[in-house]
Amino acid sequence: MKGSDRAVKIVVVGGGAAGLGMSARLVRLLKKAQITLIDPAERQFYQPGFTLIGSGVYRNPDKVWRRQSDCIPEGVKWVKQAVTALDPAKNTVTVADGAVYPYDFLVLTPGIQCNWDAIEGLSYKTLGEGNVHSIYDFEGAQKTWKAVQAFVEKGGRGVFADTYTKHKCGGAPKKICLLTEHLSRKRGMRDSLKFDFFTASKALYDVPLFTPRLEQIYKERSVSINTRMRVKGVDTAAKKVHFIRTETIKREVPDPQTLGAVKAVDEVVTTPVVEEYDFLHLAPPQSAPDFVRQAGLGWTEGSLAAEAWVMVDKGTLVHKKFANIVSLGDVAGIPTSKTSAAVRKQIPVAVRNLIALIEGREPEAIYDGYAACPIVTDYGHVLMAEFDYDKKPKISFPLSLLDMSRERRIAWFLKVYVLKPLYFYGMIPGYW
Ligand SMILES: Cc1cc2nc3c(=O)[nH]c(=O)nc-3n(C[C@H](O)[C@H](O)[C@H](O)COP(=O)(O)OP(=O)(O)OC[C@H]3O[C@@H](n4cnc5c(N)ncnc54)[C@H](O)[C@@H]3O)c2cc1C
Repeated sequence: MKGSDRAVKIVVVGGGAAGLGMSARLVRLLKKAQITLIDPAERQFYQPGFTLIGSGVYRNPDKVWRRQSDCIPEGVKWVKQAVTALDPAKNTVTVADGAVYPYDFLVLTPGIQCNWDAIEGLSYKTLGEGNVHSIYDFEGAQKTWKAVQAFVEKGGRGVFADTYTKHKCGGAPKKICLLTEHLSRKRGMRDSLKFDFFTASKALYDVPLFTPRLEQIYKERSVSINTRMRVKGVDTAAKKVHFIRTETIKREVPDPQTLGAVKAVDEVVTTPVVEEYDFLHLAPPQSAPDFVRQAGLGWTEGSLAAEAWVMVDKGTLVHKKFANIVSLGDVAGIPTSKTSAAVRKQIPVAVRNLIALIEGREPEAIYDGYAACPIVTDYGHVLMAEFDYDKKPKISFPLSLLDMSRERRIAWFLKVYVLKPLYFYGMIPGYW
């Protein structure tokens, strides 16, 4: 890829999968640019490993992180602060200690904010109380593994739920459910356990090539699928989870166009539902970080508005209002699955388009929406769902030699042994 000799100031906000991968490539291609990466984190986590910690596949949790200082590419200035404000009109970023960083171009990659408090009766601090667990957090994943074993040992009802907002790795809540179910069989305890999965969506999964097999697996394993059920709150003392069930019904109303006639309209009906549990696994509601919304960079209309994901063009990843901002990764408001697999394919597009902008050209590289979600179906198999914006399969070589609409052992090896080193030694340093 051709670089640029322009002496521009680039600020990268957020040094995770997207921010580090971008910085590493940019520093090699832009010899005279000044690149500043802002991120307060001490550690760089390989988050897909959280599912494997929560299910006991990774017994040493410390293997999923590296020191952030070891991940910052040479030649990039690291500001170890959280961004608190961003002014896209003045091209400045303000951090927690009050310092202001001006930029010519901004790479916006701060990932997702988990809003634990948006579930009544729950907060990040109380996670674990009342046997409520979540692998959407490093410590949470470790507690989950302890709780999963105790639950399988003791018996009872396991309730597993996703959330109503867009969330990273939509497969994660399903994976921990299936792994716990398989663990109960491995330990000879399946008959004393009941498994129920609740999704806020209309269906368990929505990628045509993979959905039928996934639904079949749930059926074969006697895990119920309950759709349109959104977690509202948890009574941890009583071990009850409160859902809101949403249904769309047809209703007849007078037709103002024709006297005496009626017409059918859709009406959304919500019903409260309470379920008892012995073990509860949740995904927290998620959004863009607050400073993104406050800066007016998020979507303001439609289904993406409430969560304020960054308003970028879904092909070029360039902001729709501010042409000196590119955004990718979980924070980007694009209709694909929020995964590091997607980030890997977004990075080269965002790099090319940023260089075009720096050179005064139109951005021309296009991201096709590629995302991958390795759905771990048991200890030994993974349904490797890979697809694009149109939900068409995008199977990678060499797995394309097999029917990948089914769970595969080779995909398990990839997931458990190969992807983590590829993340730390290939993707983050900008080589893969
Ligand atoms: C349980 C779980 C399972 C997953 N499983 C998979 C999987 O199997 N496959 C897959 O591909 N993906 C998976 N993912 C998703 C994947 O981890 C994310 O999609 C990916 O990390 C997104 O990269 P990102 O750079 O956008 O965000 P992140 O990697 O989260 O990085 C964001 C960075 O921004 C920083 N930041 C946040 N706020 C600020 C601020 N105010 N100022 C400055 N910096 C800030 C953070 O410290 C962080 O370093 C999983 C995630 C979870 C939680």
